[in-house]
Amino acid sequence: MELDSLYQEVILDHYKHPLNKELKSQFTAQVHHVNPSCGDEITLNVTIENQIVTSVSWDGVGCSISQASTSIASDLMIGKNLDQALVIVESFSDLMSSKGTKTGDEEILEDGVALAGVSKFPARIKCALLGWMAFKDAAIQSSKN
Ligand code: ZN
Repeated sequence: MELDSLYQEVILDHYKHPLNKELKSQFTAQVHHVNPSCGDEITLNVTIENQIVTSVSWDGVGCSISQASTSIASDLMIGKNLDQALVIVESFSDLMSSKGTKTGDEEILEDGVALAGVSKFPARIKCALLGWMAFKDAAIQSSKN
């Protein structure tokens, strides 16, 4: 798999120094998501108060794409309101289903655009989506509590 080298660096940096990768004991929802095709696994805790995502923390194992992507997603969601956060997830899913035809909106996805090239590799899309889908799941559960 070849990705743009600058983007490669962003991904590697998140992989080596993942953000929010320490589960917090307080949360309004916790989910565990796995990607059996690659062996990626994450547990993700979310706190949503008054429709604002006040905390996202996670722990997991897996490939660099899954771990970096979860780091990027977690950092992006903190401080957003629930609706905004779900729009960001949709924007990222849309990018991942673009088969390499889209570059992503950096204003919305920030470091997430570094993963744009993954959309050309069907086997890796689930790796990239894992953290985002886990967040979405947790956020929806949390808003129902
Ligand atoms: Zn993976």
